[in-house]
Amino acid sequence: MINNITKWLDETAKKYPDNTAIVDGERSVTFWELRYKALCLAEAIVEKGLFKEPIAVMMPKSMDVIVCFLGVAYSGNFYSVIDTEMPPARQQKIMETLEPRLIITTLTEDKTGDADTYQYDYETMELSCEEKVIEQRERTCDADLLYVLFTSGSTGIPKGVTITHQSVMDYIDWVEETFDIRESDSFGNQAPFYFDNSILDIYTSIKTGAAMYIIPQILFSQPVSLLNYLKENGITTIFWVPSALIVVANLRALKKVELAQTLKRVLFCGEVMPNKQLNMWRKSIPDGIFANLYGPTEITDACTYYIVDREFEDSEPLPIGKAARNTDILVLNENNCLVGEGETGELCVRGTSISRGYYNNQEKTKEVFVQNPLNNKYIEYIYRTGDLVKYNEYGELLYVSRKDFQIKHMGHRIELGEIETLVSGMDEIEHCCCIYDNVRNKIILFVMGAAVQEDIVAYLKNNLPYYMVPSKIIQMSKLPMTANGKIDRKKLQESI
Ligand code: AMP
Repeated sequence: MINNITKWLDETAKKYPDNTAIVDGERSVTFWELRYKALCLAEAIVEKGLFKEPIAVMMPKSMDVIVCFLGVAYSGNFYSVIDTEMPPARQQKIMETLEPRLIITTLTEDKTGDADTYQYDYETMELSCEEKVIEQRERTCDADLLYVLFTSGSTGIPKGVTITHQSVMDYIDWVEETFDIRESDSFGNQAPFYFDNSILDIYTSIKTGAAMYIIPQILFSQPVSLLNYLKENGITTIFWVPSALIVVANLRALKKVELAQTLKRVLFCGEVMPNKQLNMWRKSIPDGIFANLYGPTEITDACTYYIVDREFEDSEPLPIGKAARNTDILVLNENNCLVGEGETGELCVRGTSISRGYYNNQEKTKEVFVQNPLNNKYIEYIYRTGDLVKYNEYGELLYVSRKDFQIKHMGHRIELGEIETLVSGMDEIEHCCCIYDNVRNKIILFVMGAAVQEDIVAYLKNNLPYYMVPSKIIQMSKLPMTANGKIDRKKLQESI
């Protein structure tokens, strides 16, 4: 095992220097260039005297973000990507938790926080002494952090999931082997780089020499053009959120573009994939490999998988399968014992893939990264996912539901509590509650108090990313309560 993920890039750049590493619209970069530019950036970071420190990458999605990820990794520091479309108020909260020592950006306007800024410019970056960077990299070990990814947090503060080089290497080794990814393959990247699904595209490409095409975002609302893009660029592998696959199927785009000759693997993760739309995809690519990956950010993207190997009715649930290599899954009931036959329990994970906890947040870390209740002999952490699952008759895991108020909306992970905490803090709001309408895929906010609708909407938009802003606000003179004095969510759910 190597100590730093950038050693994969060293190898790949040596083996396939002129192969395309990333395609980003009109721009592209070879593996040799990618390594060179990452080293240039790393040198600038090393010169600032930074080692094992958090570095924020704040720029719109582009191949430059990947250069930054790798540059930070070469320098022995760790990155956190800040979504530039997120309102500054939320960026600020993330910065307060991360306390970055450096912000790498292409933006010229005011950035958030007091950290030093590095103005990134791909064209002018040059390398003067590679040895200096390599020397610093040699001081790292595989238990060092590679990145911190922020996800929604119920207390109103996003949580920074810490992931080590070791976890990513272990995961990508498994991806490469399981799906037989080679240098001749090409990924069609959908996932934003602040979402952990992108880890698969980025690092499998770097390890194997496969190209990664950053699909222009606009194409995801034009399914026929999207499929034509896949076809014209000979994309062999996609790893998308089910929402993206569903839109393509629903708009019947698969009937208009023939993909069977080029697209070999359709992998997905992040939320439930309905068999109805999956069957449409399977019909149009009969020899393709389809796989349902499951996992939260806290366990390095995916920890279980199911390679689709039989027919399913449209209304049947698709299994999330079995544990990925070098990962152990424990399904625990309320008494912290392994579930019996047919029993539903919480999916808990053990292994190298587990995060080192939430950055700068011991309290939240302790809630879900806990000692394995089945082992009282030595320290062994498990991660409690909050997902309820059960085994089917084939011994495969089936996703059932969440234990809490976390939802998936358009592929985004959202704690309804984060919206509620924010709204509760508004003047003239006495009480509020957020519900997810699973049928219409809408977040609905119920409020009690004198606040005016327009003010609530403006406040939400100033504080939350667009996908977290409720699409409907219902004002009530009184919220329904249960007998023990809690908001009656069930009643609210039934009322929509
Ligand atoms: P994230 O951290 O954004 O990857 O979100 C993780 C959560 O998404 C999990 O805890 C599940 O609730 C949900 N999820 C991820 N993959 C799947 C899947 N294949 N099927 C059902 N739910 C999933």
